[in-house]
Amino acid sequence: MTGLANRLINRPILASIRTSAFRHNLNRVRELVPESKIWAVIKAKAYGHGLEGALQGLESTDGFALLDIEDALWLRAQQWQGRILLLEGLFHENEIPVARELHLDLVVHCEAQIQWLETNALAGKPLNIFLKLNSGMNRLGFTPKAYRNAFHRLHAAGYHLHHMTHFANADQIDRQPTVGQQMECLQKTIEGLEASSSLGNSAAILWHRNAVGEWARPGIMLYGASPTGLHADIAHAHLEPVMQLRSEIIDVQELKKGDRVGYGGRYEAPEDMRIGVVACGYADGYPRHAKDGTPVWVESENGLGVTCPIVGQVSMDMLTIDLRAAPATGVGTVVELWGAVISVDDVAQMSGTIGYELLCALAPRVPVSIE
Ligand SMILES: *Cc1c(COP(=O)(O)O)cnc(C)c1O
Repeated sequence: MTGLANRLINRPILASIRTSAFRHNLNRVRELVPESKIWAVIKAKAYGHGLEGALQGLESTDGFALLDIEDALWLRAQQWQGRILLLEGLFHENEIPVARELHLDLVVHCEAQIQWLETNALAGKPLNIFLKLNSGMNRLGFTPKAYRNAFHRLHAAGYHLHHMTHFANADQIDRQPTVGQQMECLQKTIEGLEASSSLGNSAAILWHRNAVGEWARPGIMLYGASPTGLHADIAHAHLEPVMQLRSEIIDVQELKKGDRVGYGGRYEAPEDMRIGVVACGYADGYPRHAKDGTPVWVESENGLGVTCPIVGQVSMDMLTIDLRAAPATGVGTVVELWGAVISVDDVAQMSGTIGYELLCALAPRVPVSIE
């Protein structure tokens, strides 16, 4: 194992973004919903992966969906000529000129946005609007009662309309509102209003393929993680993890039975043992709440490697692992925090959260390499 040194001039921590995994996962989405066009959701800097790798890996998507006009500007500056959807639409009226200039598609979810678009309705190529129905999630969108009127007003102002809603529980069967209830609400509300629709997120694509619409909106599955937070739930989908977060052991401590490790002395050595200190902590985005036993993959010379659990509290820049299963390790040994072997969902589960949060929280100080 050569270590990470040839790619770094600094601390040995690196997030590698595999563009081939992006391509694979996008192809899987297309196989699952072959009739739908794809909005590849790249909000939150592509769920922490960075826009650059996402653009390289997902360039065959039909469009990108995101929140920030700045990110849309960046995509256009990279010569991305496909569609771009602002998932929360405009935040202020003064964004309309730049939205037009960049040819953005807009979600419209509230009365203020309609008023801005009515005031600024211009002749020329009409903007595409994805009008958002609140079909039961009660986050963004028009109530069923207000929806038809909103549709007619924007239509009258010359915009090109699509229906849109978002599911609260596409990853659960026993929670309300169910996908079925939200679909029923949608169908009743849009009856007779001719337009294509954008409905399904990753969970709907995986488990409710009849509730996706003409424009699917996959996010987390493009990154190879699970909408439920449980890796086993997506095993059947054969997705590949895109981000691999690696670091190195930077020190080894020889503990005697009864010695304690780290802040708070949370872990007590049950016998004499070696502890590896890894250059990754919560300031890199690793969850501070990771429990003892959270898996870390320790690579080895023969390429086999072994799982070594976290022992002791994760600190700002370091974490500590039990090296009893990896006797031939030392300073410079490479470890994987998540990626090819350790699922980010498994780390998240041991920390009381979901993979989405860990991926998005990758800290800016971690260098990213696109591979
Ligand atoms: C984030 C988001 C998605 C993608 O959700 P995933 O669960 O990551 O697939 C889809 N639609 C909207 C409106 C979103 O905000």
